[in-house]
Amino acid sequence: MTYLLVSFVPLLLFVNTIFRTMDDYFVEERKKELLSQANIISGKISSSDYMYDVTKQFKLDEEIRKISEEGNLRILVMDSTGVVIKDSGYQDEGKTYLLPEIIEALDNKDVAKKQPNGNLYAAVSIVDKNSKRIGVVFISALITDVTNTILEIKDKVYLLFVAIAIVVAMIMFFMAQLFTEPLKKMLAVIVKMSEGHLEQRVEVTGRRHNEITDLAIACNNMADKLEKVETIRQQFVSNVSHELKTPLSSIKVLSESILLQEDVPKEMYIEFLHDINSEVDRMSVIISDLLTLVKLDQKEIPLTFVETDIANLVRDIIKRLTPLAAAKNIDIEYEQIKDVFADVDTVKITLAISNLVDNAVKYTPEGGSVKITLDADHQNAFISVSDTGIGIPDEEIGKIFDRFYRVDKTRDRETGGTGLGLSITHSTVLMHNGSIKVNSKEKEGTTFLVRIPLHQNT
Ligand code: ADP
Repeated sequence: MTYLLVSFVPLLLFVNTIFRTMDDYFVEERKKELLSQANIISGKISSSDYMYDVTKQFKLDEEIRKISEEGNLRILVMDSTGVVIKDSGYQDEGKTYLLPEIIEALDNKDVAKKQPNGNLYAAVSIVDKNSKRIGVVFISALITDVTNTILEIKDKVYLLFVAIAIVVAMIMFFMAQLFTEPLKKMLAVIVKMSEGHLEQRVEVTGRRHNEITDLAIACNNMADKLEKVETIRQQFVSNVSHELKTPLSSIKVLSESILLQEDVPKEMYIEFLHDINSEVDRMSVIISDLLTLVKLDQKEIPLTFVETDIANLVRDIIKRLTPLAAAKNIDIEYEQIKDVFADVDTVKITLAISNLVDNAVKYTPEGGSVKITLDADHQNAFISVSDTGIGIPDEEIGKIFDRFYRVDKTRDRETGGTGLGLSITHSTVLMHNGSIKVNSKEKEGTTFLVRIPLHQNT
């Protein structure tokens, strides 16, 4: 309706103005025409002795009658007192006419005026040889023919307008339906989604892409993402519960077996308490890893980027993990190709790289080796951690960064892994706007390549 009003109202005003101008133009033209006819007659009267000599009138009367008939005009000739000498309609001869136009004409001013009744009056004075005003030629003409024609055209145009407006309104209504219907459907789906029905999808109709189908597709993609996030969340909660339940069950079994036995020897107490203690340690590790991850996720503690000598940082990590590697007779080799200084959050990056080196040691059998290489180009630092360990099966590589994901569940309980280390590393590297890649071959070894931008635009 708004579009219709905005487009039609100005057009209507415009057309109206055109008609008014046309009307004025025709009236003005007609006035000029009547004045010139009145002037011609007035001229002829002046040059003849019409006013004074009745015998001379006959010839001119004939001419006046002709003009009057041809133009459908009423022509009156009056003397200077307003008495009608000649009336082409014959009815008013001898009467006195003192219309304002006639008085003005006697004042020697030619006038033509449109009357409220739709007639046009033109009055022109008759002047004798001595420039004396001796009378007036008065013409009355109906101009309704012209105005009627204009009115007729106007009516037709307005009728056409209404017809067009109805058609346009119908098309617009149809178009609006076409646009609002899918939007209404989408809205209904979104409302349902917000109530928790994440499986809802918007129906994408029509093969051609337009804003509406794009919006529907985007809406569905968002729903997919939401559903995925919800699944991951549920999985995460169930994983956490499961991971914590296992050590708790062990503790329960261990403590019960002591409690239910009588005369338990001291050695058994110590052994069981030792086991309980290590289960509690395991729970602590899981919880502290989880807290680290949650903090990283929530960006609770913003990273503080400091320009750091990465070689130093890596050397410290190696120093700390060497005893662990030495215990398994694993050699940690370090190669630094370039000096690298990068903007990093030292604590978090240390933890991230430590996880990789720790894993390399953990998943490499005795006598193997781990190699760490540090390199850089003009934009990024590259840290690679390779081992000659057990490797990761191809089909598992995509999942190792998932929380609690462990390739070999039983083995990891022995190695003490929580399945959270790589998630922490991955999140940290992403928060440094870097990336992490894995290359691995089962039974041959694994290489993790971390890329971190040298400069953070914070
Ligand atoms: P975890 O605490 O179990 O080590 P991570 O998140 O650090 O958990 O690693 C996830 C899984 O990825 C590990 O359980 C292991 O199966 C696999 N993995 C990680 N690093 C290596 C590696 N260097 N060699 C072989 N497997 C690895």
